[in-house]
Amino acid sequence: MVYNIKSAKAEEFICHEEILDSLAYADANKDNLELIDKIIEKAKQRKGLLHREALLLLDCKDEKRNQEIFTLAEQIKKDFYGNRIVLFAPLYLSNYCVNGCVYCPYHAKNQKITRKKMSQGEIRQEVIALQDMGHKRLALEAGEDPINNPIEYILESIKTIYSIQHKNGAIRRVNVNIAATTVDNYRKLKDAGIGTYILFQETYNKESYEKLHPTGPKHNYCWHTEAMDRAMEGGIDDVGLGVLYGLESYRYEFVGQLMHAEHLEAVFGVGPHTISVPRIKKAEGIDPNSFDNGVDDDTFAKIIACIRIAVPYTGMIISTRESPKVRERALHLGVSQISGASKTSVGGYANPEPEDENSAQFDISDNRTLDEIIYWLMKMGYVPSFCTACYREGRTGDRFMELCKSKQIQNCCHPNALMTLKEYLVDYASAATKELGQALIASELGSVPQEKVREIVQKHLGEIEKGKRDFYF
Ligand code: SAM
Repeated sequence: MVYNIKSAKAEEFICHEEILDSLAYADANKDNLELIDKIIEKAKQRKGLLHREALLLLDCKDEKRNQEIFTLAEQIKKDFYGNRIVLFAPLYLSNYCVNGCVYCPYHAKNQKITRKKMSQGEIRQEVIALQDMGHKRLALEAGEDPINNPIEYILESIKTIYSIQHKNGAIRRVNVNIAATTVDNYRKLKDAGIGTYILFQETYNKESYEKLHPTGPKHNYCWHTEAMDRAMEGGIDDVGLGVLYGLESYRYEFVGQLMHAEHLEAVFGVGPHTISVPRIKKAEGIDPNSFDNGVDDDTFAKIIACIRIAVPYTGMIISTRESPKVRERALHLGVSQISGASKTSVGGYANPEPEDENSAQFDISDNRTLDEIIYWLMKMGYVPSFCTACYREGRTGDRFMELCKSKQIQNCCHPNALMTLKEYLVDYASAATKELGQALIASELGSVPQEKVREIVQKHLGEIEKGKRDFYF
């Protein structure tokens, strides 16, 4: 197969031979410090790296250069994303699934998992529970099942979620993580007002992919891999990539994922909005140790840093699959969004599951409350953000990237973060979090460059105290 970055065919834009050649190139050059230094210099221009260049940095074993890579990743993150961390929660609608994914407890043959699908009334209860914690952004999750979870069910659920206004609560952005679907269905999701469409590739290696997805519609590698092209064709211009680390060699995945990002940029003029970095976790009937390609914490950190450097404008997401310690390290190296107080069971926010039921997708390693996470972030000097302004203002796709590239984030996202944090403090925070947060907002206000913007934010912060909500630039 010949590599063709602009091809519409999965096997040409994620060309197996090009990945193998890239791996061989990195093997041949991994001790070529002169070349590695050149790539680090290029990375310092903050315009990203090509997949081969980024792989060479990932493979680099030289201590001094690795320190440089970590420092640069942290600096690039600060330059483009400042010290804000966006928060969200997953909402599992249904775990019915017709696929056979061997790493996922939803797989159709799993008799041990408790199958659940929420009614619109149950979704309402879940959303109220999420609003009562302070969440404003959700990631919808569902298994693939045309009978139990058709697109109409997903669309109706999105409508329900956006319609719920409980006390001062509101879900203002719904991202969606459902199986690969048709251009028509992507258009419907776009019309329903979704934020990002997220779909994890799981693995870019076609042969492994087919073994890991032995049955069901997800078995079709090309249909799955070409999904983001269809989503973009359907008008969704914020898409989120991810591979499930542990399934295949991380080097193969790293190259494949960057080739995917390069393809989207080449064809649609805009790369992925986000990249998630999930690792396989224990789940009902699933033992992560039964997969051969586990990624240790140090390698995981290096992957995050190298993604950060290779695609500086792409947001990075880490979920509660990871422990507080791993998440803390990831935040330094490039992650800009995290989930908090997540439940992976269906209906688990409003009604914790009894002992004899288990509908969860995987075990969680960070079990803290949202308030504890907010406090922890602020203690480390981060500004927790519940901002949802961009897509509501039409700043999606290349318009968001322009904002990021022009470094106007400090005059736009930063004030929005401070105002949404203020809402959180007034409506949901514990006394200690509130005290810490008020002091943080006061000091962070000074880092909004434009005086006019600062004045407007001051005014809105006062209005939030008086009960007004939802200010944004
Ligand atoms: N059914 C949709 C699909 O096929 O893309 C939605 C995805 S599922 C609800 C979300 C993601 O969870 C999957 O894409 C997979 O990467 C991840 N996942 C599945 N099993 C997992 C496990 N045991 N540990 C960690 N993540 C897992």
